[in-house]
Amino acid sequence: MENILILPGDGIGPEVMGEVRRIIDWFGEARGFQVTLDEDLVGGAAYEVHGAAISDAAMEKAMQSDAVLFGAVGGPQWDNVAYEARPEAGLLRLRSDMGLFANLRPAICFPALADASSLKRDLVEGLDIMIVRELTGGVYFGEPRGIEDLGNGQRRGVNTQVYETYEIERIARVAGDLAMKRGKRLASSEKRNVMESGLLWNEEVTKIITTEFPELQLEHVLADNCAMQLVRNPKQYDVLVTDNLFGDILSDIAAMLTGSLGMLPSASLGAPDATTGRSKSLYEPVHGSAPDIAGQGKANPIASIMSFAMALRYTFERGADADLLENAVTHVLDKGVRTGDIMQAGCQEVGTRGMGDAVLAALTELGK
Ligand code: NAD
Repeated sequence: MENILILPGDGIGPEVMGEVRRIIDWFGEARGFQVTLDEDLVGGAAYEVHGAAISDAAMEKAMQSDAVLFGAVGGPQWDNVAYEARPEAGLLRLRSDMGLFANLRPAICFPALADASSLKRDLVEGLDIMIVRELTGGVYFGEPRGIEDLGNGQRRGVNTQVYETYEIERIARVAGDLAMKRGKRLASSEKRNVMESGLLWNEEVTKIITTEFPELQLEHVLADNCAMQLVRNPKQYDVLVTDNLFGDILSDIAAMLTGSLGMLPSASLGAPDATTGRSKSLYEPVHGSAPDIAGQGKANPIASIMSFAMALRYTFERGADADLLENAVTHVLDKGVRTGDIMQAGCQEVGTRGMGDAVLAALTELGK
């Protein structure tokens, strides 16, 4: 049987994950998705009990699970805890121990929310792009790094952008696989004009895609031009693969195209297992723990629900169920049901639970 570990975390994390749990149960009852669910603490909640942002036991469960569904961590009450025990350390440990090197951030614009984008409706309506960001290498981890006192009243800050062939190859394969399942178009972004690491990235991506994914249409775009193209004509892209630093920036730009933080899912994947072919995976909303609205039942659960849809598609290979869940969310938005963060005139405002109810009703209606 499949097994999922749920790590709700802090703030609105437990509220939105409560709705995801109800949706998982629905798929069990209505669509035969047999799964064992376990739950554990992460972030500030884990710190309060274990003095660490994730316990070794929870970490072991994560390593054994088919997928981890993560809520959010953090809050002002843990602002002053020791650096290594801060809530975010739980997420960082999960990413590094599970070897999650590929971060998938879809930017989908629901027609009903196209007016919430900072771009004009016709530029974003129907937008569906997937940004694949390398997550464990590049300038955020490269050595040497640090701040050096030069002794003459000057200091020097250093970070190193570094990639090796295997790191580029494996992220290119993840992106290639995704593009094959989508529109068969892949764009790769770097700065080969000024950085040797960009040149290497460009050459290795080209090698992998032309030899292993010959059906794909591959395009290389300089990262600065890519930022511009994303706000000029975002629909030109299907899958976009890039490194850790540029991915950080380009995926935030893409996020803004779709309107609200409460709508954005993400997935992080590791290398495929040699025997099962299945990758370790963690699915999480892009937003944080939203302390300003925590405990009020107001949070939008759609980002977490859409993250579970990604788990259905990419870990459990239940594409039809993922489509059904995404269609149910679209249906609910088309009917004018809204949480406060995406509220528009003439729509019906509901809370976290109300949005969960609406998605469940739509699933039942569309799943017949
Ligand atoms: P945030 O994403 O928590 O909130 C930003 C704003 O968006 C807030 O006004 C919030 O109310 C709103 N918002 C976010 N998600 C929403 C949702 N689902 N429904 C409705 N409104 C929503 O970012 P922040 O305020 O910068 O950070 C708050 C805490 O979360 C901090 O402790 C931060 O470190 C942490 N954080 C955690 C993660 C994570 O767990 N992956 C990510 C980002 C921030």
